[in-house]
Amino acid sequence: MHELGLCTSIVDAIERRAGTRAVARVKVRVGRFYHVHAEAFDQSFEVAASGTVAEGAEAVLFIVPLEAACAACGATSEVDEVVPACPACGAFDVALNGGDELVLESIEYRA
Ligand SMILES: [Zn+2]
Repeated sequence: MHELGLCTSIVDAIERRAGTRAVARVKVRVGRFYHVHAEAFDQSFEVAASGTVAEGAEAVLFIVPLEAACAACGATSEVDEVVPACPACGAFDVALNGGDELVLESIEYRA
């Protein structure tokens, strides 16, 4: 279950930023490329956060789509997975962006 590794990295990032403050909620942006399953993510986050400042915190997951940028026609298209050709014109000269990001977007602390 690769979600656990992902969540461990996220919790590490939370701890670095939060210090000793108790965390209520975090927002995380994860690229489509990681193929994260929301349910597995929730469970893994709970495990990874256990015993840390993020224990019991809610993790809000935002899946960032992949973007295919075509060098031939200049179109950018949102795609669900790695595509070999531009969805707009069919050219094979596409670059994929955005799908591999992993960003801790925000942290809300307990009052
Ligand atoms: Zn194109």
